[in-house]
Amino acid sequence: MIIPGKTIGIFGGGQLGRMTGIAARKMGYTIHIFEPSPNCPAGQIADREINAPYEDKEALKDFIQNVDILTYEFENIPSSTIEFAAKHRPLHPSSKVLYTCQNREREKIFLRTNNIPHAPFEIVTSLEELEAAVAKIGTPCVLKTADFGYDGKGQIKLSSSDNNLGNIWSQFSAPKAVLEKWVQFDLELSVICARNERGESCTFPVAENIHTHHILDLSIAPGRISEKTAKEAETLALQIANQLEVVGLIAVEMFLTSDGNIVVNELAPRPHNSGHYTFDGCITNQFEQHIRSICNLPLGSTDLLKPTVMVNILGDAWQNGEPAWAKLLQDPKVKLHLYGKAQARPGRKMGHFCVMDKDLETAIGKATEYRNLVTPKPSEETLPFP
Ligand code: AMP
Repeated sequence: MIIPGKTIGIFGGGQLGRMTGIAARKMGYTIHIFEPSPNCPAGQIADREINAPYEDKEALKDFIQNVDILTYEFENIPSSTIEFAAKHRPLHPSSKVLYTCQNREREKIFLRTNNIPHAPFEIVTSLEELEAAVAKIGTPCVLKTADFGYDGKGQIKLSSSDNNLGNIWSQFSAPKAVLEKWVQFDLELSVICARNERGESCTFPVAENIHTHHILDLSIAPGRISEKTAKEAETLALQIANQLEVVGLIAVEMFLTSDGNIVVNELAPRPHNSGHYTFDGCITNQFEQHIRSICNLPLGSTDLLKPTVMVNILGDAWQNGEPAWAKLLQDPKVKLHLYGKAQARPGRKMGHFCVMDKDLETAIGKATEYRNLVTPKPSEETLPFP
């Protein structure tokens, strides 16, 4: 057990590291961050920030020897760095879990091997394989890079078989891809599951997620689904966490099809954007739960205090200057979180806010209204509820 007062090292300095660090500091831990770019969101709240490339062995040694336990806040850390770190300090979730989840091919094969419902897929490494895969899977389908994809980056949707596959493959810069059947879903859901070394596990309430241009826009908790679907989603997430022997958090993104079936889309072994609602909405938030699970402490209650809607604030909100924070905060049931990023670029996640209300529909209505207040004049297609 790594008790409060010890030092936690986090690879990655983004907002997930920042919020994990805030939760850990609240509990009395010391936080060290390893991140290539200076003045990162997590570094701003850390006791120590090391800025060096992930491959810098000397900086890594310095980082590792001054912490008691290690974790990470995003998946794309070189595996050589993770393996080196794991030789010297406990690292959770394990390098094996990260290895599976940081690559779509391995992730999909894990799902297939363990009979977890997923969209049919084929691995593609050449134009010939792409043609054969499209013929087998049919259209619509989506071509995704095997490595380093997130928020829809490195993805091309193929709508009909008359697509020029030669052009598509030559534009696709990755050597390996996964071709996946397009799922006709009614809703996107996610479940965040925590598991500690003793094998204790629990899930957070299922969130309903609305994406705009592939980026998460709103998370609604509890999701507007039947109890049966919620139970199935939670059971699947627990099954995945147990099968992977996760210590820490794992976020499971899913589609709910119109005939009521759940299809797992993606896994992320870390706190997740769709779990930000827990910061204000749950007795224990996902970041504290991550700390509790990696430190082998008992897990906290994941009970939802009140229906909560989380709205992401992207860099687009700064297009006409500073967003109208004072107006937003006029509603005393709104909680604002900004990540300390200096530059507001379109599409960049700058912060989020949560709206809480005893009535879920009221919270959704207010969230939609305030979203449009913070990001002025959104075009029709970016409105979450047209
Ligand atoms: P991903 O990067 O795989 O999480 O994809 C980002 C978003 O693209 C998802 O949240 C979905 O909205 C959409 N998407 C990805 N894959 C599929 C699929 N096979 N069928 C339908 N929508 C998809």
